[in-house]
Amino acid sequence: MSAQLKHYNNGKVTDGKSGRFGDVYNPATGEVIASVPFASTDEVNDTVAAAHEAFKTWSQVTPMRRARVMFRFLELLHKNAKELATIVSREHGKVQADAEGEVQRGIEIVEYATGIPSLIKGENTDSVGSGVDSYSLRQPLGVVAGITPFNFPAMVPLWMFPIAITCGNTFVLKPSERDPSAANFLAELLHEAGLPEGVFNVIHGDKEAVDGLLHHPDVAAISFVGSTPIAEYIYKTGTDNGKRVQALGGAKNHMVIMPDADMDQVVDALMGAAYGSAGERCMAISVAVTVGENTAHELIKRLKPKIESLKIGAGSDASAEMGPLITKQHHEKVTSYIESGVSQGAELVCDGRNLTVQGFEGGYFMGASLFDKVTPEMKIYKEEIFGPVLSVVRAANYAEATKMINEHEYGNGTAIFTRDGGTARDFARDIQVGMVGINVAIPVPVASHSFGGWKRSLFGDVHMHGIEGVHFYTKLKTITARWPEGPAQGADYHFPQM
Ligand code: NAD
Repeated sequence: MSAQLKHYNNGKVTDGKSGRFGDVYNPATGEVIASVPFASTDEVNDTVAAAHEAFKTWSQVTPMRRARVMFRFLELLHKNAKELATIVSREHGKVQADAEGEVQRGIEIVEYATGIPSLIKGENTDSVGSGVDSYSLRQPLGVVAGITPFNFPAMVPLWMFPIAITCGNTFVLKPSERDPSAANFLAELLHEAGLPEGVFNVIHGDKEAVDGLLHHPDVAAISFVGSTPIAEYIYKTGTDNGKRVQALGGAKNHMVIMPDADMDQVVDALMGAAYGSAGERCMAISVAVTVGENTAHELIKRLKPKIESLKIGAGSDASAEMGPLITKQHHEKVTSYIESGVSQGAELVCDGRNLTVQGFEGGYFMGASLFDKVTPEMKIYKEEIFGPVLSVVRAANYAEATKMINEHEYGNGTAIFTRDGGTARDFARDIQVGMVGINVAIPVPVASHSFGGWKRSLFGDVHMHGIEGVHFYTKLKTITARWPEGPAQGADYHFPQM
């Protein structure tokens, strides 16, 4: 029997009223395990109205008291981390240990947000003029919305709302309709932590719900994470409607392997970065750029047996290293990319198609694929595949490798593996990508730093979490104050000078 999900509106669970629903699958079995309501514009309006009302009081609560709610939430997250990871794994398909890692990275943002009394502090300059002082405030925006992707159903919402809420905003989350249960679980924990009604709301749905948020005059800002075409649409529509928008999009992350790199470390790092979570990570490495012919030869020789022995199974199987893809449609899309690589002349070294897992014949499993001799003109190089497919591109030298990365339309993450400090330093400074790893394959910034790509991997200017998150969710106000004594001095028509 499949579960009926509900919205989480103004502190209460509410039934979907639109009459439209979507199926949620267990990707390991292909079975429908839940039904998720798709909100109508009216339902979105009701939720935003509740959040707008809640803002009036929540924004007046002191930062320290808002932080205390986050401390209680943090305790509850620790206590329930395994259960949250199991919810993620069941609907997403990623293996339990990977889901636990996702939850842990989300928890780190909550830890960061508990520091809000310090993070939100303004600046003060005594005596900017004679008897005049200047200071600044960071004030919350109002109702802010988060629209999130399927691939991190716990971590990506956690990138957003802990900081938004502790800054004094109220929040409406529209999670992915493909794995929506984690959002409701987070809402329950926040409620248990004592968050007042209406401060955090979950509205499920599809384009109609998203458009309802994009056009609502009381939504002040939108944080979006998802694919590039939708990110661009969200950014354009949101900013046209006068909102502050940060919209993070897709990726094609390259790892440069220099001839002096430690090849054992490279292979271990690459296996996890390319095939972990079945390649459904925006920071997954999908292109290995080998510098020098021998580097390519050595890499493929060592990767092949590791790929062939990769353990693929259901997320609930503790011995599995890689789970299924999210949906049947996505499985078909990834398969078609592999076909395109073959037809465009890339060499398919390992073919992950046609894999079935015993006992899970209805699941959307795919083995790991490896292409060699991929070139920049090929579709599998240009586009984000978002599956367990790694392309090796052979570069003659460092300059050719970095030129390729700088010319790619995406600029989310990248990495270089080398033992040469000078080369690594040049790479970090010259590469046109937002997040760079030096002998680190998945350079996801920690909570106190900020996450965001360049080029068509991010629309907007402000990255997520860290101090950029605090700035995104607050408006700066600067106050110039004087307390004059004695008689009025008469009007002065010159521009004021200090
Ligand atoms: P998606 O763009 O399909 O969906 C993201 C969100 O947008 C969902 O909530 C969905 O309901 C909504 N949406 C989908 N179509 C819409 C439409 N036409 N109009 C309005 N809203 C719409 O992305 P996905 O498949 O869930 O996630 C995978 C993508 O997200 C990949 O491209 C991946 O690279 C990207 N991603 C990026 C980052 C990053 O930080 N840059 C992080 C995670 C995922």
